[in-house]
Amino acid sequence: MSGTLYLVPTPIGNLGDISRRMAETLEQADFIAAEDTRVTVKLLNYLGLKKPMVPYHRHSTEASGQAILSRLQAGESCALVTDAGTPAISDPGEELVARCGETGIPVCAIPGPCALVTALAVSGQPTGRFTFEGFLAMNKKNRRAHLESLQGEERTMIFYEAPHKLAATLRDMADTFGEDRPLTLCRELTKLHEEVSRTTLGQAAAWYGENAPKGEFVLVVRGAEPLPEGETSLEDGLDMVDRLRGEGLSLRDAVKRAAKELGLSRNELYDAAVKL
Ligand code: SAM
Repeated sequence: MSGTLYLVPTPIGNLGDISRRMAETLEQADFIAAEDTRVTVKLLNYLGLKKPMVPYHRHSTEASGQAILSRLQAGESCALVTDAGTPAISDPGEELVARCGETGIPVCAIPGPCALVTALAVSGQPTGRFTFEGFLAMNKKNRRAHLESLQGEERTMIFYEAPHKLAATLRDMADTFGEDRPLTLCRELTKLHEEVSRTTLGQAAAWYGENAPKGEFVLVVRGAEPLPEGETSLEDGLDMVDRLRGEGLSLRDAVKRAAKELGLSRNELYDAAVKL
């Protein structure tokens, strides 16, 4: 019978967040697959545990994943950990979990620290509906395209960001969503210098344009205000253009018809359609 893959979250800054179940799972697993064994050995030392470890990081998912699967299939149990937080959330693990699913190997996720949930909970932004967008691309064009695809998004949006990209990302967000869009900037969560700033994209972009950011950040951005009832958005226009194109109209004619029927600016709709 196959062994089980346990997804074991680890603290995102405060060792007090280690749970009893997390420690017991690490202790009972036959082996640990770790994003960086040098980081995980410190946690094991803290817990007074000694365990065989294998590396499982983003550059080795194929080869290491196969070796881990074989051991699971042979009946061993494995605890997967990353450097901090929940495995498979912007961290290695997603592919391994999918492969276990395909091959019928049981997966058990232990609940625990996760930066996005911690940030959302403390943000003061609406939590009923949200979208997690992970890290934006390094490349400016791709980053902008990602943000533009979220222009009409009404749900709260959560992003991870590295400090060296923060200033550029905040500037792009302010340009795309507006200077006044509310933002909760969560820095160094659970750590000594934890800081939660409820601000706007414009103010944060201006501040970090001048001051170098330090630490780890989660950005929680308020969703777009819903359109007043009956009003149509550019996205509705783009959907209609797409439909009309499918019916054989040229781009120009589709834009003309959609703009007229939905009461949108023809130039704005054309520019948006061309960008797509
Ligand atoms: N799997 C992790 C989780 O469950 O949160 C996320 C790993 S991802 C590689 C690392 C990113 O998470 C950082 O760049 C930052 O955006 C966010 N992060 C992790 N720890 C954080 C903390 N203590 N405070 C703020 N953000 C944090």
